[in-house]
Amino acid sequence: MMKIAIIGGGAAGMMCAATLAEKHDDNVSVFLIEKNSILGNKVIISGGGRCNVTTGIEDTEEVLKKYPRGKNLIKFAMYNFPPSKVYDWFEEHGVPLKTEADLRVFPRSNDGGDVVGVFENIFSKKDVEVMLKTKIENVKKKGKKFVLDLANGSYLEVDKLVITTGGQAYKTTGSTGDGYSFAEELGHIITPLAPSLNAFILKEKWVKDLAGVSFKKSGLKIIGDKTSKFEGAFLFTHNGITGPAVFALSSMAAFELSDLKKEVKMFIDFLPEFNYEEMAEKIRKALKENPKKSFVNTLDFFIPKSLAEVICYDIGIEAKKVNSEISKYQINKAVEWLKNATITVVGRSAGEEFVTAGGIDSKDINSKTLESKIRPGLYFAGEILDVDGFTGGFNLQAAWCTGRLIGESIS
Ligand SMILES: Cc1cc2nc3c(=O)[nH]c(=O)nc-3n(C[C@H](O)[C@H](O)[C@H](O)COP(=O)(O)OP(=O)(O)OC[C@H]3O[C@@H](n4cnc5c(N)ncnc54)[C@H](O)[C@@H]3O)c2cc1C
Repeated sequence: MMKIAIIGGGAAGMMCAATLAEKHDDNVSVFLIEKNSILGNKVIISGGGRCNVTTGIEDTEEVLKKYPRGKNLIKFAMYNFPPSKVYDWFEEHGVPLKTEADLRVFPRSNDGGDVVGVFENIFSKKDVEVMLKTKIENVKKKGKKFVLDLANGSYLEVDKLVITTGGQAYKTTGSTGDGYSFAEELGHIITPLAPSLNAFILKEKWVKDLAGVSFKKSGLKIIGDKTSKFEGAFLFTHNGITGPAVFALSSMAAFELSDLKKEVKMFIDFLPEFNYEEMAEKIRKALKENPKKSFVNTLDFFIPKSLAEVICYDIGIEAKKVNSEISKYQINKAVEWLKNATITVVGRSAGEEFVTAGGIDSKDINSKTLESKIRPGLYFAGEILDVDGFTGGFNLQAAWCTGRLIGESIS
């Protein structure tokens, strides 16, 4: 009888166990080991409790572009179990889904609990031994077997080991990063880790005057060892910025931003559709056509009034100053603000998702099976891998497809 242990009953672990259960080999026993008292804690709270299961993007190459790290490692797994197959799989297992206008896919019930319910249902009927409230403390190799030390003092000896302990974001969900030390114990290298998909806290005091003001399309940029840029929607909060473009930039520049003990400068282009000269020309034209109008009420042709007020205050233009009194220097200053406003990132705050960038070094993993090249019989899936995606269902999609591939390759 072959014994397979899966450490971590999150998205990847559940999908791996379900795949093994569906193959239903009588000569195999599967142990799904989870330290929480329930399965899929993070899946339940994901997507604000609605669980953004996957993406509605159909072209798999396009899907792979949403992973700033790890796309080569998961390419085979992604083609094997792409978003469309994930969609069908959940529907076939009794969870009707819907694709929203922004191509995020959710259960029609808007309840992440239904997604976990699918797996509970499978495990109640098929031969998977679900071991809840069971924390693995340690993992060792003994001959061809793996020995798992349980927190209660007992141990489990297995032939194959799948580690799906997740990353280390939102530790209260149980994903505390234990798997990294298990992997190191077994000879694997962990690449540097950094949080990703977060909102930012800014140093500038004027931010609170803009709380709630949103921009449909702005350019955000961070210049570090490399320059990261993203164009999209964002929103000011009472102490910083958030929104899709902010999450995407936090992902692209995860390592530039990993140490926020030192301040990081970020640049906003509020009007990326115009270049500097076009912007200056538009302002000059507006001033000429409206000589008696105040400058602040002219700037708000282009941007929300509250931002126009912040800009005028910053460049020393009094509210009552009319356009005929504005100097060339002040026009240039305003253009600089609109095209290249400098803000200072001093911290991060929770986004709608939160993941760990970095993980098990991909060079030691066979991408066709996700088996370790160092320890035959050892596999990794989900966020513990050096794989992370943007918001929009891509992180769960990575967990589903990697968990699935291991289930299939072991079977
Ligand atoms: C707030 C939030 C919202 C999110 N929303 C979305 C979303 O809508 N869409 C999306 O695609 N992604 C989302 N994500 C990201 C996504 O949830 C994760 O990337 C995904 O759950 C990773 O799956 P995993 O199986 O690798 O790890 P996890 O789901 O984190 O599961 C790991 C499991 O391992 C268990 N474990 C850890 N150590 C041990 C141990 N020593 N012994 C036993 N068990 C152990 C943990 O308790 C945990 O249950 C969100 C993340 C957060 C934090």
